[in-house]
Amino acid sequence: MLESVPRRVRIVEVGPRDGLQNEGRAIGTADKVRFVDLLSAAGLEMIEATSFVHPRAVPQLADAADLLAGIDKLPGIRYPVLVPNVRGMERALQAGVRDVAVFTAATETFNRRNINATIDESLLNIGEVVRLARAEGVWVRGYISTVFGCPYEGAVDPAAALGVAERLLEIGVDELSLGDTIGVATPRTAEAVLSRAAERFGVDRVGLHFHDTRGTALANTLLAMQMGFHIFDSSAGGLGGCPFAPGAAGNLATEDLVYLLDGLGIESGVNLDAVVTASRFIADKVGHPLTSKVYQAFQATRAA
Ligand code: MG
Repeated sequence: MLESVPRRVRIVEVGPRDGLQNEGRAIGTADKVRFVDLLSAAGLEMIEATSFVHPRAVPQLADAADLLAGIDKLPGIRYPVLVPNVRGMERALQAGVRDVAVFTAATETFNRRNINATIDESLLNIGEVVRLARAEGVWVRGYISTVFGCPYEGAVDPAAALGVAERLLEIGVDELSLGDTIGVATPRTAEAVLSRAAERFGVDRVGLHFHDTRGTALANTLLAMQMGFHIFDSSAGGLGGCPFAPGAAGNLATEDLVYLLDGLGIESGVNLDAVVTASRFIADKVGHPLTSKVYQAFQATRAA
């Protein structure tokens, strides 16, 4: 059963952006810089560093340019940033960014509530961003929220969700990230999406963004790996929470993912102790306990 898992997995660390964006407490730029540098030191090869959304929309990440100027960019590591529109793309280019991420959703109601646009409107907007990115030779990742379930519409038709995925690839994004935004997927519902995705797009351009809101992120990850998928998003400590379930876990924790990969003998290049060090640093700043089980076990063992 385990022979089919990939030999190597790429982790996309989303703690500094997706994680901190969902934190209530403002974190100072110097602390964010230190956090990213600790994650670089842990061997993560892709770290989503920040976002060039309008500072009024996401004040937590208003220091995007300063953060990028401050971090120690290690060779071989890519530091994508989120961009919502052409204006954000222009700011990102001015800051020297070479990798960006754009976003839309699989369901109309979520997209409307999240960015006040229909899916078609958001794809038009993404088209403009991608055109600019292409002209500058910038790599683009495309997030799709609510692929496995929507807080407003409930169950999501896999064919409809993958229709949005197909359009993003047609527009020219280099890689997809299929998001379980509210953490409702189980291996059964995940398989319905993933089998179709693998058939239509292959596994080399499709990342998976599982949330652990109901404790199923690792089960879904294992299933996905058995199907050949090898790109997974996670956040240090499980940083971020779930905006639709305050207080509950959000992103799959990087520690939990790395522990699973290590146990299966799957390479990621990531050092688990070093991720824990990064999480320990940021836990102090966010001011609440982190949800990662593996992180908690490290802390408990250290205290004993
Ligand atoms: Mg997330």
